[in-house]
Amino acid sequence: MKNEKLKDLLNRGLEVLRISLQENCNFSCIYCKPENNNLKSLSVEQFKNIIYVACKLGVNSLRLTGGEPLLSTQLEKLLYEIKLLRKIKSNPISNLQDVALTTNGFLLSKKKADSLFKNGLDRITISLDAIDPDIFSKMIGENNKLIGREKLYKVLEGIDNSIDAGFSPKNGKLKINTVIKKDINDNQIFELVNFARERSIEIRFIEYMDVGSANNWKSSEVLFSERIINSLKEKYHLSNLGRFKGHTANRWFMGDSESYVSTVSSISNPFCSDCNRLRITSDGYAYTCLFSSESKNLNQWLAEPINILELEKEIKKIWRSRDDKYSENRIKILEKDSKKYPKNHPSMAYLGG
Ligand code: SAM
Ligand code: SF4
Ligand code: SF4
Repeated sequence: MKNEKLKDLLNRGLEVLRISLQENCNFSCIYCKPENNNLKSLSVEQFKNIIYVACKLGVNSLRLTGGEPLLSTQLEKLLYEIKLLRKIKSNPISNLQDVALTTNGFLLSKKKADSLFKNGLDRITISLDAIDPDIFSKMIGENNKLIGREKLYKVLEGIDNSIDAGFSPKNGKLKINTVIKKDINDNQIFELVNFARERSIEIRFIEYMDVGSANNWKSSEVLFSERIINSLKEKYHLSNLGRFKGHTANRWFMGDSESYVSTVSSISNPFCSDCNRLRITSDGYAYTCLFSSESKNLNQWLAEPINILELEKEIKKIWRSRDDKYSENRIKILEKDSKKYPKNHPSMAYLGG
């Protein structure tokens, strides 16, 4: 049933599919700035067909993201259908070893967390950039500090609800994502790590990236992973476990606890050489790089009656012609040849971070 291994122009296989289920978001993080365009989303059937084809072509890991995926009314139905299809050996969707979700956690009520677990979600990543309510408010773009505080408590509750539902951090089923913006939330690093350690949660520090244009990114606002790790080493014993091929995170084991700290160093130590990720937007566009200004509209191959073979041909074509390595070329593009910097740079929420 498996096709021959699909490779791009740099000999990289297609292994991970990231779907932005919903571009809109209920937060407005200062480093992300979603546009909330109320895009018409693909149907569950259409998402399923994309997942089917992607799995046929080598994908074994699916991440549902956004925008805020918990705002999507289709999420649980899609999860349930994937859960059923994973059980059918002859269906390529059974190749999925991992179905994960990234969320800001605000809508993770007990009921929602239980429902996600029961509908077959394997792992959940919750974004959390501060423990201090005022700094949290600033990071999520909330001017009213009282509302910001309430939102923080909801997210913290969401983490507990997810653990109670079965997303055990010790088994890697729940992780925290953190973006540090220099001089805004860098004083939260230790508090965040302590919070994560107490719950055996792996916390991943993602370098602030130049995705999208509305965040007005400046390289001077990026806190490099090395700085974070070096300051943590002053207090904790960290052993470097490295980065698995095709993964984004470099992991560190905290010897005196049961938890891990990870860093995603897209700016200081890019990992384009084994980038295996295809991104699909909620309105059916395919992107092969977070920093692409070019995409392929898949809607004509998704219209009823769906021609699955044509869709497969198109996705193969997209992958085979890919030679993206933006992060490796970033410095050259930004500093030496700034005219080449893509002007219509889609936002992270649209692309699916
Ligand atoms: N709304 C969900 C959330 O925040 O988890 C899912 C979508 S969000 C785009 C996915 C991840 O991208 C989040 O962990 C967020 O912190 C990260 N992210 C967004 N903009 C970023 C940027 N400019 N640089 C680095 N990470 C970013
Ligand atoms: Fe929304 Fe996530 Fe972007 Fe924050 S990072 S604005 S929660 S999509
Ligand atoms: Fe992949 Fe593009 Fe990121 Fe490089 S910059 S790792 S090619 S998404």
